[in-house]
Amino acid sequence: MEMYFCPLYSGSSGNALFCQYGNTRLLIDAGKPGSKINEALEQIGVQPETISGVLITHEHTDHIAGAGVIARRYGLPLYATAGTWRGIGDKIGKIDPALKREIEPGRDFYLGDIGVESFPIPHDAAQPVGYRLWGGKLSISTATDLGVFTETIFRRIVGSDLVLLESNHDPEMLRSNPGYSATLKKRILGDRGHLSNDACAQALLQLIAGGTGNVILGHLSGENNTPALARRVSETAMAREGIRPGEDVQLQVALRDVTGSILCIRERTAE
Ligand SMILES: [Zn+2]
Ligand SMILES: [Zn+2]
Repeated sequence: MEMYFCPLYSGSSGNALFCQYGNTRLLIDAGKPGSKINEALEQIGVQPETISGVLITHEHTDHIAGAGVIARRYGLPLYATAGTWRGIGDKIGKIDPALKREIEPGRDFYLGDIGVESFPIPHDAAQPVGYRLWGGKLSISTATDLGVFTETIFRRIVGSDLVLLESNHDPEMLRSNPGYSATLKKRILGDRGHLSNDACAQALLQLIAGGTGNVILGHLSGENNTPALARRVSETAMAREGIRPGEDVQLQVALRDVTGSILCIRERTAE
């Protein structure tokens, strides 16, 4: 069976990722207004009421803005760590206690047909996580909002068939951006901030060496990056290692406000 994945939105202005395996559909994050999430789902032909739940990574607005609305409207359970629930507080309005699910990083569970693993990420939030989703032998991992790509994260996601990894900013564009305060720059560049294009490219090389064949660059900054630049940095790093994007590895850039197409991941047939 195939796994399907689609970045509905990805970037510092809002995140929502769609995944399907068998009869189970779920979202990772709901960080755009409910109406925008509906629009994106409609575009890929998915009815919101057929979704089984929303896995939340952390409490920053760009990951939860529409979570309350869609949970109430469609009766969707929301999954988050205890720390993230504390961080959310009353930011998403009143949530029926039956829809509030608490997860523990490292404690895996099934949501319908999809196996869900979560792992801690270094970010300035209460208890942020990344996810690895399993459909049979296939797996898809997402890791955004991380200051550094740690050995722990690598171990948790190595071998994934598809990885969506943060390629947030170009450090020079960020440093020279007059619109950002020194404090904000320090936060983004720090160990609990966001992953730069170069750090992303280095991490991708490790993951590709570990067998990953599909990569999506995500959570791009709107002001300190461009899709073309993020792509170029990763492709250049790959070329240096003799990896051919489009042949050895499929590489895509998730756009901030444009819903991507659905990717279908299949088990590779033995050669
Ligand atoms: Zn974010
Ligand atoms: Zn964040």
